[in-house]
Formats: sequence, C-alpha cells, structure tokens
Amino acid sequence: MFKANDNYLKLPGDYLFSEIASRIAAYGAQNPDKAGRVVRLGIGDVTQPLAPSIVEALHAAVDEMGDATTFRGYAPDLGYDFLRETIAECDFKSRGALVEADEVFVSDGAKSDCANIQEIFSADARIAVCDPVYPVYVDSNVMAGRTGTYDAATGLWSDVEYMPCTREGGFTPRLPDADADVSLVYLCFPNNPTGAAIAKPQLQAWVDYANEHGAVIVYDAAYEAYISDSGLPHSIYECDGARRCAIEIRSFSKNAGFTGTRLGYTVVPRDLKDARGISMHDLWARRHGTKFNGAPYIVQRAGEAVYSERGHFETREQIAYYMENARIIREGLAEAGYEVFGGVNAPYLWLAVPDGMSSWQFFDLLLETVQVVGTPGSGFGPSGEGYFRLTAFGSRESAEEAVRRIRSL
Ligand code: PLP
Repeated sequence: MFKANDNYLKLPGDYLFSEIASRIAAYGAQNPDKAGRVVRLGIGDVTQPLAPSIVEALHAAVDEMGDATTFRGYAPDLGYDFLRETIAECDFKSRGALVEADEVFVSDGAKSDCANIQEIFSADARIAVCDPVYPVYVDSNVMAGRTGTYDAATGLWSDVEYMPCTREGGFTPRLPDADADVSLVYLCFPNNPTGAAIAKPQLQAWVDYANEHGAVIVYDAAYEAYISDSGLPHSIYECDGARRCAIEIRSFSKNAGFTGTRLGYTVVPRDLKDARGISMHDLWARRHGTKFNGAPYIVQRAGEAVYSERGHFETREQIAYYMENARIIREGLAEAGYEVFGGVNAPYLWLAVPDGMSSWQFFDLLLETVQVVGTPGSGFGPSGEGYFRLTAFGSRESAEEAVRRIRSL
C-alpha cells in the first residue's frame, strides 16, 4: 500500500486565515445586522485594476497569439529575452547593481520561487528565518523534511534558527551567533508583516556574514516598489559581495497588480557557488527547465509594459494611492495614541496592541465593537504577539472608515 509523504503530515493547519474567516463568519451569523458593515484590512491582496498600458500590452499579445504568423507556443523555460533584458537593465544596472539578463529566471510569481528555491540546497541545510515571518519559507522546508519537530505550544520547529524582530531592533534581525551553523537565511525587505525596511549598512553586514560563514541569503524583495526613503537599498546586489552569496526574488504582484495575472522572477548570479564550486545558477536553470514550462507569453509582454514610460507612471500612481492609504492609517491611529510602525516604505502597518491585550483579543475587540478586520501579529510567529497587521491595499474609503471607527473605540 502506498504511503503519503510524512513531512506533509507535520505541517500545522493553515490556522491563521482560516481562523480569521471562521471568527468573521461566526460574528456575522450572530449579528446579521452588522455583517455587512465589516471593513477588511487583513489580506495582502491588491484592489486597483491593471493599469491601461498593461491591459493594452495584454490585448496586443493576445492578438499575436490569435494570428498564425505571430503565434507562439511554449515560452523559453527561463523567460523571454525581451523581459529578462528589460529586468536586468531597469531593476539592477540602472541602480548600479550588476545583474545580467541570463541571471534572471522569469516565473509565475514570487511565492513559487520562495517555496521552490530550497530544492537546490542539501537536505541537511539549516535555515534561518525572521520571527514574525511570511510562512512560505518555513512551510516549504517542512515539506522537504528540513525543519525537525514542531512544538505546538511555542509554534516553533526544532531545527530552524529563528531571528526575533523586535521593536528594540527596529524589526530587523540580529546576525546569528557564530556557532549557529546556518546555511540558508531568508530575509524579506520591505517586510511583510512588520512593514520594516533595512538600511544599506545593515544589509551589507548580512552579506558580509553570509560570505564569511558560507551561507546563502534568499532575499525576498516583493515589496521593493514601496520604498520611499532615498538611500535604502532596492536590491541586495547593491551590496558588495552579494553576487557570491545572495539570491533575490521579485514579484509583479504588488508593484503592478499582477496577483491574479501571475509573474515574478528570481536572480541567481553565476558567482554563487557551493563549497565544491558547484554553480547554483546551473542547478536552478536545471530545476526550472525540468519543472517549469515558462510564464505565458502574453503575461511576459504585460510585464514588459510595466517598465515602459507610461507603465512606470501608471503603476507609480497606484503605489502612491496605496501609500496614501498607509499614511492615513498611520497618522490617524498615531494621533489616537496608538504606536504604529511600518507604512512608510511598505504597504503594511504594524500596530502595537494596547493595554497588554493579546493580538487575538485585539482582533476580537475590533471585530465586535467596530467591525474592522486586520491580522493578529501572533499568527506570523511568537514575536508577533502584541502586534496587529493592517494593510494599505484597500480602497481609500475603507482606510478612512477603518481609522474613523478605530478612533471611536
Ligand atoms: N513574498 C512575500 C513576502 C509576500 O508577502 C508575498 C505575497 O503576499 C509573496 C512573496 C508572493 O508574491 P506572488 O504574488 O508574486 O506569488
């Protein structure tokens, strides 16, 4: 009789968002008159439609696909040259970061790449993650059998190095101890869920650490477009030596509204080699070639349009819209006496929960008294306890209404 992969059985349930959904449903069932009033600032999905220049590029590409003379079949596994070259030029070389087009691997989004990248590392690689953290990094390593045993009481895995990101540390992680023996470090800046950004000297210290200890940094820059402070690094390849120790993952989801259209990419530099001199670039190309058949032509043309002059202007306007929501929430709640972090270089606000309440108690309070929904910080890891995540991805009206209601508490 066949046997399922035991590693999958170790995964704790998708507790966070299912628990949120069931609490909202229970509240709605008990309070049918208020169910329609709920304002949701919980989920990290965008709400603005695709920009006109992107829609035009999609239409034009669809027309090409419908004409025998311009029809395209399978896309190149690693991405079309027109997109890889545009990415290398606009996202990296223009910022003084050296990334070549053939080091860019186009994919269907950052989530798949974040989850899959661990496959090209050894089965006994020890991983380090921030706490709180976007859950995909750990869960994908659980599926690969790398994380040891799960302690339901603490929510921690025995073989994972956790790096608490606290208010005292500006919600950025400290370098692991010298004896931590970490191989794979996942960093995400600007950060989901805390909204924190990382300064260049701090990121450089991570790159130096990785090069010194033979570790690799997987740098998730899905929210790069939200950086507003000049001087903050947009790419890890702005740091010296990063080509020898870092992989960077990017997404078109949050900068251009592709959450439902699906496009992302990963940079694996040719200089990234393991202790035996094995090229991680070649391994990722091999993996991609075997397990992925290329992102759709029409979507890659849409991605290219994001970098056009009009596309850039239109998507910047959308980002400005979300960041105005962030400002309204941040300033509105700060004026009401809340301590609010993030929301300046990221579309996430990280609210300190008042009066020693737990994250879930605050969730219930907001839902039951003012019908506002956010995400309890403890759902992202133990160091998220005492915090609450709000997102700026809703409409202007929902941001203003949420602030008005929370202030009325
Ligand atoms: N990385 C982080 C930190 C995210 O928050 C998200 C989505 O919310 C992703 C990656 C996934 O992005 P994509 O839509 O490109 O799969």
